[in-house]
Amino acid sequence: MLYLCATPIGNLEDMTFRAIKILREVNLIAAEDTRRTRKLLTHFDIHTPLIRFDENCKAVVAEKILQRLQAGESVAVVSDAGLPAISDPGANLVRLAIDVGINVCPIPGANAALSALICSGLDTTKFLFAGFPPKSKKNRREFLEKLSTIEATIIFYEAPHRLKNFLAELAEIFGEREIVLARELTKIHEEFLRGKISELLEKLDEPRGEFVVVVEGKKFSEPSLPEENISEVYEKLLAAGLDKKSAMREAAKKFNVSRREIYNSLLGSSN
Ligand code: SAM
Repeated sequence: MLYLCATPIGNLEDMTFRAIKILREVNLIAAEDTRRTRKLLTHFDIHTPLIRFDENCKAVVAEKILQRLQAGESVAVVSDAGLPAISDPGANLVRLAIDVGINVCPIPGANAALSALICSGLDTTKFLFAGFPPKSKKNRREFLEKLSTIEATIIFYEAPHRLKNFLAELAEIFGEREIVLARELTKIHEEFLRGKISELLEKLDEPRGEFVVVVEGKKFSEPSLPEENISEVYEKLLAAGLDKKSAMREAAKKFNVSRREIYNSLLGSSN
């Protein structure tokens, strides 16, 4: 059996009884950072052998783990925090294990994305986990453009030093929306910052700690856009001297929609 075992995202009391039991019983624990996991295991009096399993060594170690699983041993995968395979190593190993007929078993527990979502006050009936935005500006903009039309709450992870820049791009591409910044979940300085994207951008000074960004989805009942108005506004912006790209960006801001929607609407009105 391959166990995917959750560990706390801050508060050690979020470790489950079952996680402790399974981590004691398995033959091997595959951990993203063995030093960090060793501390957790010591705290819970767990003495199972550990093997390093991170992005750099995952191909070689996955092979070793599979061999042991096929020999009848049991292995648990843990990440530094939360659920393995969620913006953390593990997913690939699960695929490989399934392909060779090994059973996989979840040991559920803490997860930053869902903890943020349930306290966000935003729609929890439909949501999309988008993970970390791409680091390259071009890829990030394309990624956000695609997400901007989704009618479901969207959840991102982002590092504190990239947060302000990310929020500025989000405001530009998504238009004004409600967001919730869930900071330092389950830790002493846990807080939820709620408001419009631009309001939170103003409030944030130097973001510190770990953040989940939860963003309101595109409104389900939004009326279809009046195409003449969009093209009128667009034409006026061109006449005022803006190039096509800037005119589309300004029109998108004005109508509080994505650039892609402006583009589609202009295509529609020119047919
Ligand atoms: N596997 C983890 C999970 O299940 O939540 C996520 C790991 S990912 C590498 C780390 C990111 O998760 C952080 O950059 C942050 O965005 C988010 N995160 C993890 N712990 C958090 C916490 N206590 N409070 C807020 N965000 C957290």
